[in-house]
Amino acid sequence: MRTRAFGESDKIVTFLTREFGKLSGIAKGARKSRRRFVASLEPFTHVQLGFRSRPQADLCFIESADIVRSARKLAFDLDRYAYSTYVVELIDSMVEGREAEPAVFDLAEATLARIDGSADSPSPLWLRQFEVELLALAGLEPRFDLCSRCRRPSAEPGKGFRFNPRTGCLCCDGCGDGSGIAVSEAAIVSMLLLQRGRPTELPASAGGEVRALLQTFIAHHLRRPLRSPALLREILGM
Ligand SMILES: [Zn+2]
Repeated sequence: MRTRAFGESDKIVTFLTREFGKLSGIAKGARKSRRRFVASLEPFTHVQLGFRSRPQADLCFIESADIVRSARKLAFDLDRYAYSTYVVELIDSMVEGREAEPAVFDLAEATLARIDGSADSPSPLWLRQFEVELLALAGLEPRFDLCSRCRRPSAEPGKGFRFNPRTGCLCCDGCGDGSGIAVSEAAIVSMLLLQRGRPTELPASAGGEVRALLQTFIAHHLRRPLRSPALLREILGM
């Protein structure tokens, strides 16, 4: 996920692991000797990690890191770099300590491999899929299927709905007090399709609204603001 220099010759590296959640360790000599960790401590790289940890110690010792998949295109492609930065930053903010499930790792790896490996330019839809799946894994799934008060289904035509980013619920105009974010029918349909794993059926018109809804909801549930959405805006205008 990230590295920082430590002393004259070492690095402290933070990984997302499949079995041990988020883990930070000292890579001895990583700044001086290029032999031991050849490009394997770069962000977005999937490695087979060898480490030693002591009970009660926050930092482990990184003994080896063998590359399983390296990010080949990122260095030459700012779009892919911005996408990957966002994926890693969001996981870094949402995963605390060693509590992550293997499914979080699998989602991260699948998303990063897709961003780096695709022949075409990456699609914003991939980020929406990633956000929705990560929120579900974190137990923070927003509900777009009904009004949280009168249980009126959101698919029923004729009523407007507003989304409360704090609770992650919809409220129909009959029940609400006008607070929250007004949501279009197309955005509700899009959110439901995303949550049901059918992203290819999304109406293109709601893309910006869905992005804003998800990012506002996510921002309400993080302790600190993310930096990478600004990077995405600057590079991609999204
Ligand atoms: Zn209602």
